[in-house]
Amino acid sequence: MGIRENVKVILSELPKDVILVAAIKQRTTQEVLEAIEAGIKVVGDNYVQEAERKYEVIGDRAKWHFIGYPQRNKVRKLVKFIDMIETVDSVEFAEEIEKRCASLNKTMPVLIEVNSGREAQKAGVLQEDVEGIIKQIAKYPHIKLQGLMTMGPRFGDPEESKPYFVETRKIFEKIKSLDIPNVEMKYLSMGMSNSYKIAIEEGANVVRIGTLIFGERKD
Ligand SMILES: *Cc1c(COP(=O)(O)O)cnc(C)c1O
Repeated sequence: MGIRENVKVILSELPKDVILVAAIKQRTTQEVLEAIEAGIKVVGDNYVQEAERKYEVIGDRAKWHFIGYPQRNKVRKLVKFIDMIETVDSVEFAEEIEKRCASLNKTMPVLIEVNSGREAQKAGVLQEDVEGIIKQIAKYPHIKLQGLMTMGPRFGDPEESKPYFVETRKIFEKIKSLDIPNVEMKYLSMGMSNSYKIAIEEGANVVRIGTLIFGERKD
């Protein structure tokens, strides 16, 4: 099947309140445009320069989420056109976003990435650190903290992702119950091509899908 059909199938099966983010790393601008024409409203890229190049053509025909780990000196470029950063995993990253957004007089919605699998090589904040980091980041006036994101394993039996999602949902509900000023626990971004159905069962309202829309990547 082609991109158009893939998007239509996924959209027809998604619950209405779940946001589909098309993960567009390594995809051409043409492929991304095809997905947008088929109904994609939000795209997510991992690389600043790649995203910027595509944004120059695509512009605001989609909302732009960032789902990667930019070098510090690229954050200034990033915040100019990005609508949400899903992968904030340190106070230092947040501080850079704050500084760059302040100079643009812009407020950036962000999600905190949780390393739910406790994998050393994975990005994200360990569960015991999430509350502390959120309280620190909540003080930044040009950041709007709107929820959590987690990865979970990309390959393997999708059922293996379930405990990661359950854990992240628990943290989400806990933070929500704390009613921290300037923190609105609204979005829970979990699930990729192999696991989004399970993620939705476990409370995700944002899913990030690449392969199922565009086909296999080289990585
Ligand atoms: C690439 C990527 C995805 C999508 O992965 P697929 O398995 O291709 O659906 C989702 N989230 C992040 C952060 C990614 O980098």
